Amino acid sequence: MTPRYLGLLGGMSWESTAEYYRLINTAVSARRGGLHSAPLLIHSVDFAAIAQLQEQGDWAAAGALLADAARGLEQAGARALVLCTNTMHCVAPAIERAVSIPLLHIVDVTGAALQAAGIRRAGLLGTRYTMELPFWRERLEAHCNVELVVPPTEDRARVHRVIFEELCRGIVNEGSRAEYVAVIEGLAAQGAEAVVLGCTEIGLLVRPSDSPLPAFDTTALHVDAAVEFCLGDRQPGGRVT
Ligand code: GLU
Repeated sequence: MTPRYLGLLGGMSWESTAEYYRLINTAVSARRGGLHSAPLLIHSVDFAAIAQLQEQGDWAAAGALLADAARGLEQAGARALVLCTNTMHCVAPAIERAVSIPLLHIVDVTGAALQAAGIRRAGLLGTRYTMELPFWRERLEAHCNVELVVPPTEDRARVHRVIFEELCRGIVNEGSRAEYVAVIEGLAAQGAEAVVLGCTEIGLLVRPSDSPLPAFDTTALHVDAAVEFCLGDRQPGGRVT
């Protein structure tokens, strides 16, 4: 029988894709035992090209590039896709149009966890694009009854800088961790009951025990959905059985 391959669209950055790979395999191996691991297909892009398109605001070109990669994964046998970045979910519709397999959307899995925990107002940390463009907020508000707050301008710039200048380059810095903790305290003062770590590298810096608010790590939640799919608990349409 052909394995139920899951396609990972990664490399944005490879530091977080390596975490997805490690965490998905660790969980599948723990659940299935023995020498089992996860049947995965990975398309890892050159992040410099994507980051440049982000800076230029050329989302159409970035979407076309990722749609092509998604097509390749489907042709190679992937039965569902996981896009290992929050930011590039802003082009999720272009990717979804290019393939006939489902995309396990990072906002949907995070929204479900927020709802299950009874959170009504959450702070969002991520790249400038994730915090400022409408795609994350609108999808969450349309599907779940959760309001999002973001840090003020200067804090957003700080959070964004650490992602691109440190975390995407494998640098984990104590001072930056303290800066993030201060930003999360600010979100709490704005009435947030929880914080969404809405960038797939932030979990490398801020552990749940560092956070002054309950932390919803999008990488960990996305990995859970990926593992459910690999184990056959999640149907290709995204429904959990
Ligand atoms: N991995 C990050 C995210 O979750 C940032 C890199 C990117 O811009 O794609 O948004």
